[in-house]
Amino acid sequence: MYRSMMLINGEQVEGASGRSEIIHNPANQEPVAEVVIGDVSDAVRALEAARHAFPEWSSSSPKIRCNLLHDAAEIVRQRADHIAELLTMEMGKPIRDSRREVLSAADSLDYFAEEGLRNTGDWIATGDTRSIVTKQPIGVVSLITPWNYPVELLAWKAGPALAAGCTAVAKPSSLAPVAATEFIMAINDAGLPPGVLNIVHGSGDTVGAELVTNPISRKISFTGETSTGRWIMEAAARHLKRVSLELGGHAPMIVFDDADIDAAAGACVRRAFGNMGQVCISVNRVYVDDAIADDFTEKVIRRTLDLRIGNPLDPEVDLGPMVSGAQRRKTVEHIEDALRKGARLLCGGREPEGDLFAKGYYFMPTVLSDVDHTMRMMREETFGPVAPIMRFSGEEEAVRLANDTEYGLAAYIYTDSMRRAIRISERIEAGSIGVNVGSVIDHHAPFGGWKQSGIGRELSHRGLEEYMEIKHIRLGL
Ligand code: NDP
Repeated sequence: MYRSMMLINGEQVEGASGRSEIIHNPANQEPVAEVVIGDVSDAVRALEAARHAFPEWSSSSPKIRCNLLHDAAEIVRQRADHIAELLTMEMGKPIRDSRREVLSAADSLDYFAEEGLRNTGDWIATGDTRSIVTKQPIGVVSLITPWNYPVELLAWKAGPALAAGCTAVAKPSSLAPVAATEFIMAINDAGLPPGVLNIVHGSGDTVGAELVTNPISRKISFTGETSTGRWIMEAAARHLKRVSLELGGHAPMIVFDDADIDAAAGACVRRAFGNMGQVCISVNRVYVDDAIADDFTEKVIRRTLDLRIGNPLDPEVDLGPMVSGAQRRKTVEHIEDALRKGARLLCGGREPEGDLFAKGYYFMPTVLSDVDHTMRMMREETFGPVAPIMRFSGEEEAVRLANDTEYGLAAYIYTDSMRRAIRISERIEAGSIGVNVGSVIDHHAPFGGWKQSGIGRELSHRGLEEYMEIKHIRLGL
């Protein structure tokens, strides 16, 4: 069976405790890989390796770091099929999407390779003094990631951290550590000096907590649940460490009466059900103008019924299993709660039938109407394949409903009116707004949350700045 080791100081290593765990395929429960498990002492070893590597890496020329990141991106592309297959087998994402994720991760490395060259400062002349303002790498950083995009979200952190001149210790999710580890190995194989980029496995409570609390790490870049992010921020505060927190979301989609209904329905289905709804920027709540609600809902149902569910290694499949039984149970609980409170089930709402699905965490994509904000799915992150549709009338009501959430990661608006698009975009409390598009991710633009969805930004030049400290050098003439 495939064995996934940790990487500390440039070497593939076992954990100090000698423990390992088997990762099982959520599509059929078959073993996928044996994963070496670390403990606190392994986390410390990795942090020390990163500290040792920091002086040389941080003072290396940005061009050298740029070339290494481009080489790393190329190696990731060469290994994309292998990494994507592991990713699909460990967490259930359809192979087409896994491949796209890995290639996009390579693109992130290329993007930050170049962005690292544009790390300019300021020169300010003030009478008989001059001020130089420069940006320097923060130091050792801890990169902690979830299971839903285990490769791409790690690339959003490792790319800018390395480009900025930081050294790093990554900890992937215990549910899906294998593809993430292959990704880190591929970057190292480009010729990184030992210790620059390490990866350790193990539970968040022990290994993750050590990466957060150990004074060697100067910054924590975390993606995961809001409750974990809150704990990390509190723990990091004891050392006044920098934090970037990409947390939960509860994205609204507002469809106005002047929208292209086909385009809106297509985006709704892709964004509510892609990756089985296990996406922080999934559409969680659909608000549709009363005048077009019937037409829109019918189109959503038709497209939902066209989705192919099956073995995620089949390239024709749109939806695979969910990551775990717990994730599926939470989805069922949210649907039951909504139905109890008066929602209407329009399609899905159950597991698919047949031998193929018997051992996997499969669930049918589910569309509901007649929902309201007393229901859990309209307030809490379901993280499952559910599209609850609610009617509104007038802009005021649409904005009020969209903002009636503690989260503020992303929102989607469909309208043909540019004025309305700008007016509504400016009033919605979220870090990213997609107008007539079903994705808000672009390497060139910042991504991050308002309210309980997080602190800091990833991607774009702002994503690089998260790994740098500003220094003012004042010169007397
Ligand atoms: P978790 O918060 O449970 O875990 C995320 C990572 O943190 C895992 O590696 C986990 O390790 C680790 N961890 C857990 N506890 C601690 C701790 N005390 N100290 C340090 N590390 C810890 O999130 P999930 O993996 O369940 O991911 C799903 C969540 O991620 C959703 O809420 C989703 O919205 C959010 N997310 C946010 C995104 C964004 O950009 N805003 C993007 C994608 C997802 P272990 O696995 O061992 O527990």
